[in-house]
Amino acid sequence: MDSREQKLLATIEALSTDIFDFTCRLVEQPSTLGNEAGALKVMEAELRSFGFAPQQVPIDRDKLRDHPGFAPVPWSYEGRYNLAATRPADGAGGRSALFNGHLDVVSPEPAHFWDNDPFIPVIQDGWLYGRGGGDMKAGVAAMTYALHAVEKAGFGLNAPVTLEAVIEEECCGNGALACLDAGYDAEAVLIPEPFGPTLYSAQVGVLWFKVRLRGAASHVQATAAGTNAIEKSYPLIAALRRLEEQMNREERPAPYRDLEHPLNLNIGIFEGGDWPSTVPAEATFHGRLSFFPGTSYEDVCRRIREAVSSAAQQDPWLAQNPPAVEFYAFRSEGHLIDREQPALATLNGCHSDLTGSDAESYVSTCTTDLRAFHFFGQGQGTCYGPVAENIHGANERVQLDSILQVARAYALFLARWCRLAE
Ligand SMILES: [Zn+2]
Repeated sequence: MDSREQKLLATIEALSTDIFDFTCRLVEQPSTLGNEAGALKVMEAELRSFGFAPQQVPIDRDKLRDHPGFAPVPWSYEGRYNLAATRPADGAGGRSALFNGHLDVVSPEPAHFWDNDPFIPVIQDGWLYGRGGGDMKAGVAAMTYALHAVEKAGFGLNAPVTLEAVIEEECCGNGALACLDAGYDAEAVLIPEPFGPTLYSAQVGVLWFKVRLRGAASHVQATAAGTNAIEKSYPLIAALRRLEEQMNREERPAPYRDLEHPLNLNIGIFEGGDWPSTVPAEATFHGRLSFFPGTSYEDVCRRIREAVSSAAQQDPWLAQNPPAVEFYAFRSEGHLIDREQPALATLNGCHSDLTGSDAESYVSTCTTDLRAFHFFGQGQGTCYGPVAENIHGANERVQLDSILQVARAYALFLARWCRLAE
């Protein structure tokens, strides 16, 4: 590391309190689906305070409807947007970079499982607690301050750099897709998702589905006359579990061979019934299923439909009243990432200069917004982020040192990839 890089790292150290403070201010905003406005305002103000010029990027359903990466969702995009700010190059000779992070968070419910209010950040023993702290507001803070640190240290950059804060990552990826469609892309894309300081090297495909069953209502005194839609869903869920097991037994891409159970089905929402003494006439469950890179979304949709309909055929009522299967939100295919690509090699060089060893590869059993850049953008990107625990669970937390590690690695990456200008 030369003296200019040393100066960058010293600047990150000097900004560490500000980085944690910014993370806390983002965590204070309960940015669940549809409620992202507060977090976006905090982000926008921070970008402006650094002299960046954030643009609001809406998700225009009419414009994106026919995009192969667009995921139809039942909720509205009215008044909701992403933010993107591109810092122009100060000279020539560098390569462009884009940092992407999402501001949306999943619900903290059941909130009484938490030791503290999920939206009141607490810093304790080297960790920051709060919903979204790890996934992924700390990463957003780290990427934002990495770029700010370059300027604060007195340097410019010989290539443009974009900071992008998106919504809709936790449900479909339409936020990142809208930004890409609006022209925000770069020769290297880095996403500080909280999988640790590793080179993200594969992600599975993910889809969401919903199954609706009809029963027949009656008073419990004559339950035999009614048909319980909740109980009718049991064999359907069991059939989907068998599909999951089957898919885990099939041929898989090399990076996934050592993982015990990489593909996972989750039944995440169950709705049905409203009275203990009434046989429920309707039930709906929503699920998420993952699939290996190389498998098409349409193929998995077909298998889910087949699993549900063949289980329904075994039941006289369901055979006569077939359950309705629908797909919405996530429709992401998986992909593999070559860690020998120049941007990843550069990032690995930054990591090894900071830590003394190469970054490990991370094979993911979930999905991220990287898919948009991989399938529809210039395609050279990875995730490298802080260390977090309990993301999507109670007492989510992110390790403070690891946030600074990301900021350091990203600042070095900017210096080496985009090249410093005096
Ligand atoms: Zn995330």
